[in-house]
Parts: sequence; structure tokens; C-alpha cells
Amino acid sequence: MSTKKIERIIQSNQTHFVGDGFKVHNIIPGIQGLSMQRMSPFIMMDYNAPHYFSPSETPRGVDVHPHRGFETVTIAYQGKVEHHDSSGGGGIIEEGDLQWMTAASGVLHKEFHEQEWSKKGGSFQMVQLWVNLPAKFKMSPPKYQALLNHCIPKVQLANNAGILEVIAGAYHGIKGAASTFTEVHLLNVKLNQQGIADFSFPAHFNTAVLVLEGAIEIDGKTIPSNAFGLFENKGESFTILAPENAVVLVLSGEPILEPIAAHGPFVMNTREELMQAFQDFNEGKFGYLD
Ligand code: MN
Repeated sequence: MSTKKIERIIQSNQTHFVGDGFKVHNIIPGIQGLSMQRMSPFIMMDYNAPHYFSPSETPRGVDVHPHRGFETVTIAYQGKVEHHDSSGGGGIIEEGDLQWMTAASGVLHKEFHEQEWSKKGGSFQMVQLWVNLPAKFKMSPPKYQALLNHCIPKVQLANNAGILEVIAGAYHGIKGAASTFTEVHLLNVKLNQQGIADFSFPAHFNTAVLVLEGAIEIDGKTIPSNAFGLFENKGESFTILAPENAVVLVLSGEPILEPIAAHGPFVMNTREELMQAFQDFNEGKFGYLD
């Protein structure tokens, strides 16, 4: 196996609000040429770097909106989020938990800070990823997976290097908690100072890391907190070294080699399917949510 090298380190210095509850850096798509195709199946990543929200009696968030054609994955690092969707899915996630919502044929959902957390306020850190679905699954029924931390398999790394949570895919034969439609690996890696972890993915998989805490080194390059390291589509294996305590999200997935027609909350294959999504939404075919 040959070494997979870092192609680029991407840092966003711009944030925008999604609703009034998520202050995000948009990493995918668009930043420095990082297109949906380049990172497929990860077609969107919004990163809410640690941000203090003051106490609020009215929870902040994003009100009812639709999705079709993909999955939304929310990973909570700090703070609490409550989710409800029109297919009956819903729940509260907090530090260490995830929600994996398959919008597929279409749902309405809303995402808000959890009420009691909102009253106290606090530091908030989340990642939202959109994972694309291949054409044959875009109109599958919606699904919701609540992946609470205790359900996520954990691997103790050798030499007291740290702990690795297998959210999806597999790590050294340990299978992840999420069921996915295509091959997706999502690993949350908590490294102690001087900790080292090894990874290996097929060369053509789109692979990246997001540093949530501390800084890491890959192949002699330092990737600081809140930065995104994109790998070349060459080589298979790489090593993450943590000069200081660090938390890193590692993502790798088999690209879905199909056309992408995306607009707002809909990601389809053709313009006609996109038009159909808007029409179905306007005709109330995505169900109902208060
Ligand atoms: Mn949404």
C-alpha cells in the first residue's frame, strides 16, 4: 500500500447563520473549488465551530423546511439539538450523539436548540453533513437513525493513543453504528497527546479530515483546529499524529459517479427531477409538520 497525501488544507474564515441557531463555516461545496463532485458522496458540510449562544427562552434554530434526494447527518460536539420530521422521526442529540436522517423521497423537518439547553445557553459545536444517495435510492422511503453515543462502537487505540468511535463504515474490522446506502466511513477520533492512529481507504474514495479540537499532523503537514484536510485520490494509507490532545472527524466514501442537479434543499440527478421536487413540495406531498 502506498501513502495517501494531503492535497490541500482548507480553512474558512467566513461564517453565516442557518436559521438563527447555527453559525456555520460552509466547507462543502464551493469553498476553494471543493465541489459536490470532488467530495461525493459528501455533498455538503456545514461546520459550527465552537460558538457561545446566550440564554434564550425561545429556542434558536431552523424552522420547517424540506429535503429530498440525500441524507442529513448531524454530529453534536457541544450543545443540544432537537429534531422533528414529517415521517415521525425525531429526537434530541447532545455531545457525542448523532442523528442520521434519510430524507430520500422527501421529508419536512425542523432543527432547534433543545429547550432546556437553550434557556441556559452555552458553547455550541456541531457538524452537519449531507450524504448523497445514488439515483436508485433517491426516492426510497424516509428513515431516521438516532445514533446515541452508547450505541456507537468504540475502539481503544494501541499504546494509549486514544479512542476511536466508528460512526459508519468500519475501522480495523469493527463495524459502525449507521446503516448507509453506499460505502461511507465516518470515524470520530479522540487522540491523546502524542497519540497516533493509522487509516486505510481505497485510493479513489474521497477522503478528508476535519479537526474539531487541538491540531494534528499528517505526512509532516500540520492541520490546525477548525481546518479541513483534503486527501489526494492516490494512495491508500495515512497516519494521524496528535502533538497535543485532538479530536478529528475522518470521512471517506465511495464517489457516486452520477450527474448532480442541486438547488437549495433538493439534490437530484436531473433538472426535471429538481422541478418535480419543487412541484411535489408545493403540492404538499412531503407530508405535514407543525
Ligand atoms: Mn435541514
